[in-house]
Amino acid sequence: MTKKILVLPGDGIGQEIVAEAVKVIKALQADGLALEMEEGLVGGAAYDETGSPLPEETLTKAKAADAILLGAVGGYKWESLDISVRPEKGLLGLRAELDLFANLRPAILYPQLAGASTLKPEVVSGLDIMIVRELTGGIYFGQPRGVRTLDNGERQGYNTLVYKESEVKRIAEVAFDIARKRNSKVCSVDKANVLEVTEMWREVVTECHKDNSDIELSHMYVDNAAMQLVREPKQFDVMVTTNMFGDILSDCAAMLTGSIGMLPSASLNSKGQGMYEPIHGSAPDIAGQNIANPLATILSVAMMLRYSLDESTMAERVEKAVDKVLEQNLRTADIYSDGMKKVSTSEMGDAVVAAL
Ligand code: NAD
Repeated sequence: MTKKILVLPGDGIGQEIVAEAVKVIKALQADGLALEMEEGLVGGAAYDETGSPLPEETLTKAKAADAILLGAVGGYKWESLDISVRPEKGLLGLRAELDLFANLRPAILYPQLAGASTLKPEVVSGLDIMIVRELTGGIYFGQPRGVRTLDNGERQGYNTLVYKESEVKRIAEVAFDIARKRNSKVCSVDKANVLEVTEMWREVVTECHKDNSDIELSHMYVDNAAMQLVREPKQFDVMVTTNMFGDILSDCAAMLTGSIGMLPSASLNSKGQGMYEPIHGSAPDIAGQNIANPLATILSVAMMLRYSLDESTMAERVEKAVDKVLEQNLRTADIYSDGMKKVSTSEMGDAVVAAL
């Protein structure tokens, strides 16, 4: 059966970078990839048109799709809106409604970009880490939450960190499965010395490991993990952690590679449906200028082909094409260095299509 994807460009540079990813998908379709593609609204763009950052129509299309390709949401224009209708709610809503509990965020350093990292080349060259972040639970969703006024008139903000055993178990299983296809090492990151929730997290991961004993399991406190990522990042293969710790550590890991514009991500549910997006945001500071790097979004297409569409050969073609344009010294502004050829967003997209 022909697979269906939903394309949600979103806001800011989302529009520009997704247009380049769509060029790549169309080139693959012309080469025999059987795929139906439709577009939808999400984020600020959806709010402007419908009053909701996640319109019912988008949600219905998303549920019917095998995969979603998303650009980014958010921007200055919507920052003063009530939190319930801010663009980010569109994204969180999609993750929650589709139960996209497993967020896969690779941090790979392309050898051609070793100089773009702020760390010494010998510390980062050959870096290839996969961060598996729990995405639908933890403190970002826990209830109760809010800001209340105490008896003395002072305001108090509060959020709740909660995890059920089943939520920990399923994300641990994903991490073990992925490690098995890589270098067979999982490091589970928690704060078990302070937070009871993550003490339980550690116990459940350890329990799951009994059925995955072919994988080497280690545990690390999150503060140490942050330090080790910068000190000796190549010690890690797969890292698995909670929603908030994963949010922070994966941005840190991303920067080891030099540019946030190079890194894709996948968010999967237990049915194999997935949402694929670059890890960066809508970059309102550079939106509309045709200078954003589209490669993270194009590499998200590669992840989509691999994890939701069962098209690993096509995925490899896309990844090799990205490698080739870097080899040709083509660089968008964010990864540009002396001696390279600076290209725009659309020129980079065209170059990838040509390299396919
Ligand atoms: P950001 O990732 O949008 O930008 C951070 C910096 O990186 C900016 O200087 C930006 O110009 C640069 N950058 C990002 N992507 C780039 C690319 N492809 N090419 C070149 N440079 C790139 O993060 P931010 O500035 O903290 O957030 C901006 C908006 O995006 C906010 O509204 C935020 O809520 C939203 N956001 C959305 C997502 C998402 O949709 N998944 C994720 C993070 C932030």
